[in-house]
Amino acid sequence: MGGSPALSEVCLTLSTMIGAGPSTGADTGTSSDGATTATEGADRPTPLQVLSPSRASDFLTCPLRYRFRVIDRLPERPSPEAARGTVVHAVLEQLFELPADRRTLAEAVALLEPRWEALVAAEPELAALFGDEDGGFVPERLEEFLGVARDLLDRYFTLEDPTRLEPAEREMYVECLLDSGLTLRGYVDRLDVAPDGALRVVDYKTGRAPGPGYEQRAMFQMRFYALVLWRLRGVVPRLLQLIYLGSGDVLRYEPDEADLRATERKLLALWSAIERAHATGEWRASPGPLCNWCDHKVRCPAWGGTPPPLPTVAARAEATDVSEAPSPHTSPVDL
Ligand code: SF4
Repeated sequence: MGGSPALSEVCLTLSTMIGAGPSTGADTGTSSDGATTATEGADRPTPLQVLSPSRASDFLTCPLRYRFRVIDRLPERPSPEAARGTVVHAVLEQLFELPADRRTLAEAVALLEPRWEALVAAEPELAALFGDEDGGFVPERLEEFLGVARDLLDRYFTLEDPTRLEPAEREMYVECLLDSGLTLRGYVDRLDVAPDGALRVVDYKTGRAPGPGYEQRAMFQMRFYALVLWRLRGVVPRLLQLIYLGSGDVLRYEPDEADLRATERKLLALWSAIERAHATGEWRASPGPLCNWCDHKVRCPAWGGTPPPLPTVAARAEATDVSEAPSPHTSPVDL
């Protein structure tokens, strides 16, 4: 996999965002290019200097979506895809607690329903995914949901043999503070350490592999983790591996120090763009295919909606820190 196309692609996106001019509007509303604008600067919250791969991806994809999620903290409906991703990740994590010779497909499938029940116990609203219009439980919908999850686990066993693996870490929370003051954090699905100390970073995706030309963009998240691990451990991970259970593909990439320095520069540029949006109150809507899965379409100016006023410092202080809190697999972009 070559690195240049994705770097230029993302840097181009960044330079476009960074090039957005300051707000000239005085009222809360929507500018002619679809960006939301705000009334006053003094009362707007200043951003926490924290970035995760999913939030970085949000801003790169659509700054307004980032605003709705991180600044407004608007609730989103649970989705079957996100819930399935969470439960499959939980099964794959727990699978490695078993002795190596018991890490079979049958054992993984046996873990599925208990993990799902634990997830619903923790997040009861997920039960609504399998209700009818009157809220009644539809068992066929749950069975279909679990059936697709079983297919994903089945495919996992065609891609790896877990009896031959002894991960060093699973669902590992990582965080590092860059010299700039920006904190990077996130969850690594799995970290393998070879006898010679080489690191392999593994991430499971329950969707399909990206099409030609988009692989490097998908690998951005892995470079993010590689940068954090490099800063934490002083070792550049030897291999980054994305396992796509939806399509049965595995993407691999071997980063080097130059790659990770470029990733750091890119993240700092991204953070500058986020700070600029905070300072100006301009959060550009960037419509695209993702809009069909965006919970905020109804309030999005790109689709005729009106965003709510930006929250004030006081309003935000009352809100629970959800969007920026470290939590694995809380949205489809994490999966
Ligand atoms: S509907 Fe599309 S353009 Fe609007 S906030 Fe969502 S992703 Fe962005």
